[in-house]
Amino acid sequence: MSIKENLHHIKSALPENVTLIAVTKTHPPEKLMEVYNAGHHIFGENKVQEMADKHEQLPKNIEWHLIGHLQTNKIKYIARFVALIHSVDSLKLLEEINKQALKNNRIINCLLQIYIANEDTKFGLSFTEAETLLHSEAFRDLQNIKIVGFMGMATNTDDQQQISAEFNSLKQFYDRHASNLQLSVLSMGMSSDYQLAIKAGSNMVRVGSAIFGERNYQKI
Ligand SMILES: *Cc1c(COP(=O)(O)O)cnc(C)c1O
Repeated sequence: MSIKENLHHIKSALPENVTLIAVTKTHPPEKLMEVYNAGHHIFGENKVQEMADKHEQLPKNIEWHLIGHLQTNKIKYIARFVALIHSVDSLKLLEEINKQALKNNRIINCLLQIYIANEDTKFGLSFTEAETLLHSEAFRDLQNIKIVGFMGMATNTDDQQQISAEFNSLKQFYDRHASNLQLSVLSMGMSSDYQLAIKAGSNMVRVGSAIFGERNYQKI
């Protein structure tokens, strides 16, 4: 199927409350334009430089989501335009995002990335670390960021029960805090597991290869 067909296929099956992030990392601008021209304008990238370059080249009404690990010294390249940062995993990073947001006279929406997988390759905060951060005074002082929800990645496994259990644990954590903290976004699920994530209560899915086909990492 073509990119456009993949996109329509996925979108038509999504519940109305679920936002699709088309994960465009490693793909050239022409491919992104196929998605754009099919009417989808919400893109996710995992590298700052790549996102800044694509933002420069592509139409300005694209909503850019940063989904990958972020270094404090790189925030300045995206602070002007990023719509949502999914991958906040420290207070230090949040303080720097706040600083850059202030410089650009805006409030940047962020998700705390929570570590739910049973493997040690993924970034993120534990539930306890996230609560400590959210209750800290230093966090309350930050006026130019807003935590609007959580992001989590499940273990890369074929065991669907394990994946669902991990997503469910984050949904429960989200439900415990959503009304107090006025949260509205739970970002869980990628190409291989977004259906399980939606069943568990995700309302934002980050889908790349199911739209664009497999990425060729050699070419980046
Ligand atoms: C690459 C990536 C995705 C999308 O992965 P696919 O398997 O291609 O759908 C989702 N989330 C994050 C954080 C990613 O880095």
